[in-house]
Order: sequence, then structure tokens, then C-alpha cells
Amino acid sequence: MTSYQYSADFAEKMDKEDTLSSFRDAFHIPVMHGKPCIYLTGNSLGLLPKSARSFVEQEFLDWQDLGVEGHTEAKNPWLYYHHFLSKQVAAIVGAKEKEVVVMNNLTVNLHLMLVSFYRPTPTRFKIIIEGGAFPSDQYAVDSQAKFHGFDPKEAIIELLPRQGEYSLRTEDILAKIQEHQDSLALVMLGGVNYYTGQVYAMESITRAAHQAGALCGFDLAHGAGNIPVKLHDWDVDFAVWCSYKYLNSGPGGTSGVFVHEKHGNSPDIPRFAGWWGHNEKERFLMKRDFVPMEGAQGWQLSNAQIFPMAIHRASLELFEKAGMDNLRKKSILLTGYLEFVLKHIHTLGKFDFEIITPSDPEQRGCQLSVLVRSNGKNLYDYLKTQGVIVDWREPNVIRMAPVPMYTNFQDIYALGKIIESYGN
Ligand SMILES: *Cc1c(COP(=O)(O)O)cnc(C)c1O
Repeated sequence: MTSYQYSADFAEKMDKEDTLSSFRDAFHIPVMHGKPCIYLTGNSLGLLPKSARSFVEQEFLDWQDLGVEGHTEAKNPWLYYHHFLSKQVAAIVGAKEKEVVVMNNLTVNLHLMLVSFYRPTPTRFKIIIEGGAFPSDQYAVDSQAKFHGFDPKEAIIELLPRQGEYSLRTEDILAKIQEHQDSLALVMLGGVNYYTGQVYAMESITRAAHQAGALCGFDLAHGAGNIPVKLHDWDVDFAVWCSYKYLNSGPGGTSGVFVHEKHGNSPDIPRFAGWWGHNEKERFLMKRDFVPMEGAQGWQLSNAQIFPMAIHRASLELFEKAGMDNLRKKSILLTGYLEFVLKHIHTLGKFDFEIITPSDPEQRGCQLSVLVRSNGKNLYDYLKTQGVIVDWREPNVIRMAPVPMYTNFQDIYALGKIIESYGN
């Protein structure tokens, strides 16, 4: 156990000992007021890997020189481009290569998964989600319930924290699943809640959902690249995530999908189909009947988005080099340091705030959500004038995510000093 100190020397020493410290140089850190900012919003939009330009430039060159021939003649033939990401993506989410595919955008993929894995019957039609889920996820499940002729008020069951608490207790989640076991079709949670930063006990939730006769899927928008997950071993039915948060692959970047192999190999599972999901060997024979590719690839609709995927490859290469386990180790230390510094500042009694993210490292990734009791927006605005980018969530929460890939301990110490100077 590291015993933290709130001092410049301590932060410098931690950075010297950090075996991942060189990865910071692989990213462009935005400059504010003439110097690199303290960037704590990698949970919202990850930073640009310097190598992304050359990955994209390769595709510009091949397009420029080859035109349509690039589909087969490009250095990375466009026809097969999605294959070039699967291995690294699978490592990040604990999947077999065949169980993942990169395609589309997140909410689109969530709908595609719900089409296949939310197949309600008159008696088994409920979906359990977390109360205060990310709006897009709420809209997706509500509209799916309506699409099947159900009233979301009856079909969607929201998990809420106990009075006076901010996080969900696993025992309460499991109890809710049991309570609805006769009518439950699906459990669909964010693996990591975007607001509180809480990591849910995905393995036991999946087991409980299955025992209740339901399926279980996760939206890992805040999980992928943040915490290690083992989707295959946990027997999760499906998962989706985006690439532009912790995975640093650019605004509106492409998205990832996991379909467990037990489903991926059943061609009869209902799905919305498109030509890129069709058996690759005969795709261009333009035959009449759809024969899905094996695994998650069988859910593809359209030909690959080469440019967003090129950026994604640059970032995935960095994740492969750094290793999720190493990133997680640093993340626990770094987030623990942020917590330590914030708690220290709290003891100074200058303003009132509370960290609503669980303090147990197993129940959080790198994000800390700080509930500021009064004038939180002022603090947020002040931080920006001091070159700190955090994010503001109505009504009173500042989210801070020291992502281990490019944040260092000296950033956190400097942040502490800046917060201390607030209101002086
Ligand atoms: C970021 C995020 C989204 C955003 O969806 P897009 O389709 O990528 O715009 C959806 N759900 C969750 C849980 C998110 O965190």
C-alpha cells in the first residue's frame, strides 16, 4: 500500500517510478494559457494519439493512388479492414477474437444487440436498467419496449440507490433480478455508470440474470479501456462500447460489439442484416439469401469506416504496448492519489464537497465524481481559467478522470494546489 503525500516531491517521485510514464508523450495534450492543460476528461473524449495521423495518412495515400482498387490493393485492404482491429479489441474486453467486431456507432450497436437479445414474450418482457442511465441508453430501451408493443412504464425496471446513497449495492441489484424473475427478459446496465463512476459486479449480475431465465448485456462506454473486463469468462451475452472515451479514437469514433460465442455461432438468431455481415467468401457473388458470418462479424451492416478505424488502430496499438493490466495498476494508484488529495483539501474546510464514487477500488475505474454542495459551477469555471479541464454534470457534479495512459501524478498535485487557491 502506497502511503500518499501531498507534496511536489512525492508526485515527482511517483512519476519517476511509473513504468508507463513515456506514454504521455504519445499524445497531444491540449495547450491552455500557453501551457499543457491538466486534462481530466478522457472519460468524455480521449486525447489524440500522435501516431493517428500516419495511420490515417496511409489510407489517404492509398485512396489517392489506387481509388477503388484500394479495397483489395491498399496496404491494409479496405475489404478486410475490420479484421485488423479484432485481436487488440478482444484483448481489451476479455473476449475471443471471433466474439468482437468494430462497426457503426454506440447507440446504433446497442439497438442492433437489443434486436437480437431483447425478444420479449407476453409474460417475459421486462428490462432491468440502472436508474439515471445515460440518456441514449434509456431512450434505446424505452423505444425497444414500445417497438414490441409494451409500455416502458411496465417493461423498464430501474435500479435506484437506497435513500441517502449514491451507488447501487450489488445485493440490491441481485434481489431486484430475483424479484422480477418470472417476467424478466433482459438485464442491460452500463458496466461503469457514467455519472457516479461505479463499476458494477458484472460477473455476479450476469449469473443472476441467467438464473432468472433472462439474458444480460452491458454498455461499456465507460468500461472499455478503463477497467479490465472478462466478457467471455463472465458469460455475458452481449456488450457494446464506444472508442472515443477511454479508447482515444476521436470524436464520433467507431464502436465495438461483443457477442458471446454461444450466440455468435447460431445463424438462426434474429438480427437486422446487411451485406457486410454476410459470408465474406461469397459477399460479392451478390446472392439472394443472407448467410451470416460466424461470430460478432455476422452483425455488420455496412462496409468498414476506414478513417475512424485507422485512428482506432493507432490507439489500440498503444493499449497493446501498455497492457490493460499495467494500466489498471497505475489507474488504481493515480485515482487513489486524486482521492487522497481531494480529501486533504476537504479537511481545510474551505468548501463543501463529497466524492460520490465508491471508495473501494474494485468498484470504480479512474473516474471520481465530486458532488459540490454550493456553487459547484463556479469552481468548475475557475478550474478552466487555471488550465484544468474537468466536466460538469447538472445539477452539481464535477467528474474528474485521471486516465493512466497520459495523466501523471504531478498533474494531480498541481490540481490540488489550484483547487486550494480557489476563492483566495
Ligand atoms: C457516451 C455514451 C453514449 C453515447 O452514445 P453514442 O451513440 O456514441 O453517441 C451512450 N451510452 C453511454 C452509457 C455512454 O457513456
